[in-house]
Amino acid sequence: MQPSRIWSEIDFQKDGKATGYLRVPISTNASAYGWIPIPIASIKNGSGPRVLLIAGSHGDEWEGQIMLIKLIQSLKAEDIQGHLIILPGANAPAVQVGQRVSPLDDGNLNRSFPGDPNGTPTMMIAHFIEAVLLPGCDLVCDFHSGGSSLEYLPSTVVIAPRSDSQLRQSVDLLRVFGLPVGFATDASTGGDRSLTGACDRVGSVLCLSTELGGGGTASRNLLRAAEDGLARVLHHIGVLSAAPEGSHSGSTQLLYRVRPADFVYSPANGLFEPFVTLGDSVGDGQEAGCIHFTEEPWRKPVTIYFGMGGVVLCRRFLARATLGDCLFNVGRTWTPQ
Ligand SMILES: [Zn+2]
Repeated sequence: MQPSRIWSEIDFQKDGKATGYLRVPISTNASAYGWIPIPIASIKNGSGPRVLLIAGSHGDEWEGQIMLIKLIQSLKAEDIQGHLIILPGANAPAVQVGQRVSPLDDGNLNRSFPGDPNGTPTMMIAHFIEAVLLPGCDLVCDFHSGGSSLEYLPSTVVIAPRSDSQLRQSVDLLRVFGLPVGFATDASTGGDRSLTGACDRVGSVLCLSTELGGGGTASRNLLRAAEDGLARVLHHIGVLSAAPEGSHSGSTQLLYRVRPADFVYSPANGLFEPFVTLGDSVGDGQEAGCIHFTEEPWRKPVTIYFGMGGVVLCRRFLARATLGDCLFNVGRTWTPQ
């Protein structure tokens, strides 16, 4: 594998807490020998599990970024056993402008693995994560949300695991995190180009993700629940020494979602009127909403239907919709063997 061209201000081998930047080289009209800063923290205390925490893979998903910024400030090396590496704004150029993809290269970090050490900035970041940060990790927690265009029923997420032991460990993590919903999805959304694909290539790295709300905002209650959930997971795997104070909310409903069967897309350009809300149970073929036509207000709206029934996991947050936009997805009851 070719070496990364990104260099780190911090030494990942050293015990203690260190913060600084990954420096992604860039050469432009305005900055011939410059670098793009990607904030990173390493908190290490002796031997133990190695865990990578990532947010801001998509720049407009705020909840995870807030959680990890707070964690960097609150955690001390003596609070943990092992090694925590924290990337609170992984695609920092996208984070800076509050967009899903990077303004430098239109790069979607979670569709860019295994990356390229000689590629665009987003490809270089993906390569660094897969080639330098992931090897030796026991667990990756990757915090996503609905971003600007979607809103999710707050959920923890795993990609349908490959082996029995991964399945058991993944379901355990969904339950320990403790959000009311945990769902498994197939690899069709990001596939081999996603961080989960990178975890599979590197080897036995468990990958836990989230979909925390969205709509371009961050709610107090959801942040609190996610912060408590992450603390429980870190304690569960032996990184956080002290048991977290946040109490478990109760049982986690397990769901399964595949694409395209459980997704509903806009059949036209217009204004999207939803007929259901997040968390509703819907039946096969039930009406999901309709599209109104602003330029032909006398034209009959087009009704949209769910294909498969299930629990409404996600909806389009923006009312303006274009042919092909995802409007909903649902999760079906999942009973892991
Ligand atoms: Zn995302």
